[in-house]
Amino acid sequence: MDYKALADYLFPDVKATPEDIEARFPERKLPAGANVTRIGPSPTGFVHLGNLYNAIIGERIAHQSQGVFYLRIEDTDNKREVEGAVETVINAMDYFGVHFDEGATAEGDSGSYGPYRQRQRKDIYHVFAKLLTERGLAYPCFMTAEEIEAVREQQTANKENPGVYSKYAKCRDLSLDDIKAKIEAGMEWVLRFRGQETNETIAVEDAIRGKLEMPRNNMDFVLLKSDGIPTYHFAHVIDDHFMRSTHVIRGEEWISSLPMHVELFNTLGWKQPIYCHTATLMKMDGESKRKLSKRKDPELALAYYQQEGISKDAVWEFLLTLLNSNYEEWRIANPESDYHEFPYTLEKMSVSGALVDLDKMRDISKNVICRMTAEQVRDGWLEWCNEYNKDFAELINKYPERTLAALNVGRGGEKPRRDIETWKQACDFMSFYYDETFKVTDNMPDECDDATVKDFFGRYLSTYDHNDDSAEWFTKVKTITEEMGFAVKPKDYKKNPEQFRGSIVHITNMLRIALTGHANAPDIWEVSHVLGEEITRRRLQAFS
Ligand code: GLU
Repeated sequence: MDYKALADYLFPDVKATPEDIEARFPERKLPAGANVTRIGPSPTGFVHLGNLYNAIIGERIAHQSQGVFYLRIEDTDNKREVEGAVETVINAMDYFGVHFDEGATAEGDSGSYGPYRQRQRKDIYHVFAKLLTERGLAYPCFMTAEEIEAVREQQTANKENPGVYSKYAKCRDLSLDDIKAKIEAGMEWVLRFRGQETNETIAVEDAIRGKLEMPRNNMDFVLLKSDGIPTYHFAHVIDDHFMRSTHVIRGEEWISSLPMHVELFNTLGWKQPIYCHTATLMKMDGESKRKLSKRKDPELALAYYQQEGISKDAVWEFLLTLLNSNYEEWRIANPESDYHEFPYTLEKMSVSGALVDLDKMRDISKNVICRMTAEQVRDGWLEWCNEYNKDFAELINKYPERTLAALNVGRGGEKPRRDIETWKQACDFMSFYYDETFKVTDNMPDECDDATVKDFFGRYLSTYDHNDDSAEWFTKVKTITEEMGFAVKPKDYKKNPEQFRGSIVHITNMLRIALTGHANAPDIWEVSHVLGEEITRRRLQAFS
């Protein structure tokens, strides 16, 4: 077979040589040790937590080393492509604070190693498809899906490995004339790699998992599909070589195809990038762990965190706890530091499934929000409300000073209050600060019947002076408590319950419920001063 003639026949438009492509994408000029990483999401319209998980690793190891982090759109599977999906990926990454140095952007491509969308790189892939054909290492295959299925059945019956390889690769040795006749008759073809019969094994040093040993590839796998677009395998090898990636960070589901990638890197004489196969995201389902599922688990979608108002910082911090086993320890030792300062390393990655625990994420979110300034909380919350709760956004804008004062209650100091969990929940928690959303939801304590409630608020209002400082205010509360036969010290009431009608806890709970609607609320004196005298009196009078 004249492979050169076959290559010219199959790829008549390819004029560039492999050397031309090498010259077009020279080695990057970066400081020693700089890493070049990427994410390669497929534009399916669904951006999942795993995309962000892998993006954080790539972003960290690139930017911690003065390297480059880029976005490549892997759109070789047009069946899965959804309109506007590229923008969805870009917007989601931007929202979560993942910034690329180059790659696909909303305005087109940015950077000298593009195009960064695989469908636009067809001419590059074809140069190497032609090269492999010329070397007798790739050939056109006309097998139909039915033929491949029949082969598979036969292999299963014979207890052989399934797939197109050696004697099962029917089109391996067609003559040039046969090939031409089939193509001219309009038969569809794919370009297959010519696998070798081998019992060898390969070993790849995975930066997360250590040494991976696997059988060497013997399959005639597909390089180009019938529309001339490459498979993931071919595109990955060519793109990561010419975009000069130093590390390939991708999900562990790709480990099984590693032998194909190694075969291609070796055949083309290129250096392999360092592979980093990340653990699959899991969740607890009852007593057992299972993979997060797109169908069953809304939390797999990145959009879920946006809708729930879990700030990007909380999502990052949560993922960092999954990514590096020493992150939590570092956070405790450095409570004020920006999480970007954490020295992230691939060596501390876990290889067993990473457990996505929403309760833990919410708890981290509380910690993140309680460390923010009132202004930062207002900005994050307002931005979320502008998108997801317009009525509340209006309230925040209508009462700017009250909102800030309210957000300052219990903020700062050694032990700041952890009232706000997510931006969505902030709308519930903060609702009592505005008459428009205030509602009394808790009942008055059992120890306080209607007459007691009325009696208490009558007494309280008669001595209430909005100008009292918090100590003066509390002295008055204690006096009333005593006068009404309640214990000023809760422990006295605990010791001798028969001697009192209740304790100061019940008295202050009445105040909290009247002012905020809930028994569990921040400091009463502070809340009254955020609400102002008029609202305070009006809410208390409703019970007197
Ligand atoms: N397009 C692949 C995916 O979405 C990317 C794998 C890779 O990063 O190489 O899983």
